[in-house]
Amino acid sequence: MFATSRIELDQSALENNINFIRSTVGPDVQISSVVKGNAYGHGIFEFVPMVEAAGINHFSVFSADEALEVSNISPNSSIMIMGYIGNEELEWAILNDVEFFVFECDRLQKALEISKKFEKKAKIHLEYETGLNRTGFSKGQLSDVIDLLTGNEKFFELMGSCTHYAGAESIANFVRVKSQIKTFNKVDKWLNSKGFSPKTRHTACSAAAISYPKSRMDMVRVGILQYGFWPSKETFIDCIKHSDDRLDPLKRVIKWKSTVMDVKEVATGEFIGYGTTFMASENMKIATVPVGYSHGYSRSLSNQGRVLIRGLRLAVIGIVNMNLLIVDISECPSTEKGDEVVLIGDQDNNSISVASFGELSNQLNYELLSRLPRNIPRTVINQSELTQKNN
Ligand SMILES: *Cc1c(COP(=O)(O)O)cnc(C)c1O
Repeated sequence: MFATSRIELDQSALENNINFIRSTVGPDVQISSVVKGNAYGHGIFEFVPMVEAAGINHFSVFSADEALEVSNISPNSSIMIMGYIGNEELEWAILNDVEFFVFECDRLQKALEISKKFEKKAKIHLEYETGLNRTGFSKGQLSDVIDLLTGNEKFFELMGSCTHYAGAESIANFVRVKSQIKTFNKVDKWLNSKGFSPKTRHTACSAAAISYPKSRMDMVRVGILQYGFWPSKETFIDCIKHSDDRLDPLKRVIKWKSTVMDVKEVATGEFIGYGTTFMASENMKIATVPVGYSHGYSRSLSNQGRVLIRGLRLAVIGIVNMNLLIVDISECPSTEKGDEVVLIGDQDNNSISVASFGELSNQLNYELLSRLPRNIPRTVINQSELTQKNN
C-alpha cells in the first residue's frame, strides 16, 4: 500500500504491559481494555484481537458506533459503552448484550421499554456523580432510579456501578480524588441497603489504578497504560519509586515510522522553513520527512518534537507543515534519503513518547495518538506462534 508513513503494533510489548498491569492490580481485579478513539489511534481493527490474544475479553468504548466496530471484530468479548448512545441505538445495544453506563433517567426508561418489548435484559452500569461533575447520578437522583428499577427486575441486569475521577494523574487533585472514592463507597453502600447490588464496582482509569489502590475495586478500565504510555510523569514516578531498578516497566506498543525524504545543508544565518521561527545559528544539515499535520503530526510540535534517526534523538525544527516536517541532523551527518525515521516508539535503545521532553504535557500523547489517521497502514509484529495460530 502506498503511504508516507507506517504503523507497527508490537504484540510482545502489549503482553508486557498487560502483565505489568495485572501484577499491579492483582489477580482478582478484572481488566477492561479501553479502546475508544480508534484504540487511542492504534487502530481498533488490529488492536482488539491483540488484546484478546493477551487474555483480556472486556472492552470499554465511548459510544455505540465504536461498540459496533468492536462487536464486529470480536463477537465473544464483553463490550461496555461509557458515554454516548442515541436512543435509536439502544435497541441494538440491548439486543446484542452490549453493556452501557446509565447516568440519566431518560436512557434508563427507554432501556426498560426496549427490554420489555424484546424480553431481553438491558445490561446496565449505574454511574454515580462523585465530584467530576460531568455525568453521573447524584444520590438524590438515585431515588428516582430506584423507583424506576423497582418492579422491573426482569428487565435489567445490574452489571455494575461506576464513576470517573477528576484527574487522578495529578497530585494537585489528591484531595478531590480521595473524596470521590469516599463518596463512591458511601453511595454504593446506600444503594445496597436499598436492595440493589451491582455486580462489578469499577472506578479506576490508568492513573487511579496505579496511584490509588482503593480505587481498583472489582475492575479497572485501563487505556493509556496498556499502550505503553504514562498518564503523567507523576504517575510514572509514583510507580517506580518503589521499584529497585527504577526502569520504565512499560513498552510502547506502537511504532509510527516514516523515511527521510531528502537531506541538505543550510548556512549560518538562514531561516529554515516557513517564516522566521528557526534560524540556523551555525552551518547545519537538515532532513525532510513526509509527515505533517494532515497525517496526524501535531502542529504544536513545531520546534518542539523529537524523532529518532539512526538511534539518535533529533529535534524537529521550524513549523510542522501540512505534509512534512524538518529535522536537524547536524549531529548525525551520515543520515541519508531512505533512512528510517521514528515519530513515536522505539529505535535501538531510544524511545519517543510524544510528551517525554520539553514543556509538553502528557495530554499530548492522548491527543496525538487518538488523531492518527485511520488510513496509515498498520501491521502487527512479534506475535508468538501461539497467538498467530489463534488468529
Ligand atoms: C478514557 C477513560 C478511561 C481510561 O483512561 P486512561 O487514562 O487512558 O486509562 C477510563 N474511564 C473512562 C470513563 C474513560 O473515559
